[in-house]
Amino acid sequence: MMIRTRFAPSPTGFLHIGGVRTALFSWAYARKHGGSFVLRIEDTDLERSTPESVQAILDGMHWVGLDYDEGPFYQTQRFDRYKEVIQQLLASGHAYYCYCSKEELDALRTEQEARGEKPRYDRRWRPEAGKTLPAVPEGIQPVVRFKTPLDGVVAWDDLVKGRIEIANGELDDLIIARPDGSPTYNFCVVVDDWDMNITHVIRGDDHVNNTPRQINILQALGAPLPHYAHLPMILNADGQKMSKRRDAVSVVDYAAQGILPEALLNYLARLGWGHGDDEFFNMTQFVEWFSLEAVSPSPSRFDREKFLWVNQQHMKAADNSRLAQLIAPQLAERGLNTAAPDLATVVALVKERARDLNELAQQCDYFYQRRQPTAEEVAKHFDDAARARILAFGQTLASLTEWNSEAIHALFKPFCAEQGIKMGQLGMPLRVAVCGSTQTPSVDAVLALIGREEVLKRIEESCAA
Ligand code: GLU
Repeated sequence: MMIRTRFAPSPTGFLHIGGVRTALFSWAYARKHGGSFVLRIEDTDLERSTPESVQAILDGMHWVGLDYDEGPFYQTQRFDRYKEVIQQLLASGHAYYCYCSKEELDALRTEQEARGEKPRYDRRWRPEAGKTLPAVPEGIQPVVRFKTPLDGVVAWDDLVKGRIEIANGELDDLIIARPDGSPTYNFCVVVDDWDMNITHVIRGDDHVNNTPRQINILQALGAPLPHYAHLPMILNADGQKMSKRRDAVSVVDYAAQGILPEALLNYLARLGWGHGDDEFFNMTQFVEWFSLEAVSPSPSRFDREKFLWVNQQHMKAADNSRLAQLIAPQLAERGLNTAAPDLATVVALVKERARDLNELAQQCDYFYQRRQPTAEEVAKHFDDAARARILAFGQTLASLTEWNSEAIHALFKPFCAEQGIKMGQLGMPLRVAVCGSTQTPSVDAVLALIGREEVLKRIEESCAA
């Protein structure tokens, strides 16, 4: 069997990271089994779907690098097909017209609630042997309802949650076409999964309740049933559902936070799935290791510290020129000219210290412009004596014939001995003088990169005053 999975987002907002995790698992399942991964945009809700949201989905998928083999398919382009299948169900007696007006349905609900019953359609228009239907009223456009089996259960072996059984008695005769003939959500999903030969429906567990309805319709159509795998939710650190108000939930938020796409995927993969103690891995490994059996049926929590650790590991592994390209725009925005020293070389030196790209950009700034040191740094390391000492050291630096970190390093010991000071009494004020910060990697390497002329100029400007 050729495995076919799909990701079927509704374009009603941004691309949610829960959606990305769903896409990731569907994608990985298809990749692992040499199958196909389909992207389908579920845009039948004309009021809530927007072209901007469609674009956000496409951009988000592109950013994280989840490539699809087919699609994007748009449900709004498939209305003729849905209408055809509705006619098919009407013709085979699996669906029927219902002419109830909104007022009638409201009245029905009020009565049922008054009797303490669960409100539900009473199937008054459902044709049955020997039953006389009401007379078709004038001027009412009917809806089409699906004839849900009256007895029995719908059961499936969910590949994540195990066996699930729902009694048909719990289900309504759901509306599959509105009065204007437009098909409803659950119906479109069914026709699409059927037409697109989806073998594994992998989706969020907020769709568990839709599954028995969808299975009933598929059965009425004589369509093969796909396997279902319902993924548990991602919760925030407090154990609440991730929400736009409280948490970063949009893919765009993560890009803005300086997260690498491969790190986001790595971390999302670990939410609800695991492979031993492996926390840091790439997508080739993930595809190799992935199985639905290893997906946990219970919700997982987003742990920001762990997430940043994962991002840091990916930054360490990432190519320095790529990181440089990613942070160059924000340095330019701050008015820094990153032509020299070479940004990728700077990145290589400082990247251990950064957990995200924004921090990385900050760690690079003093290579292009001295920072304003904090009052505390000045008080602690940059008094008159220290400045005089650094000026003297500047002269030693100026005499170097070769400018590299070894040569600079070789000056430290003799200088400290001559001045009768400890290494820290040279290193810290030197950092403040040249970088405007004490938080730098090894000072000889930093000076070597900044360059002789610039270093001497900065020492002059910061110490001579
Ligand atoms: N369009 C649905 C959503 O965005 C997904 C439907 C499905 O996967 O079956 O939640």
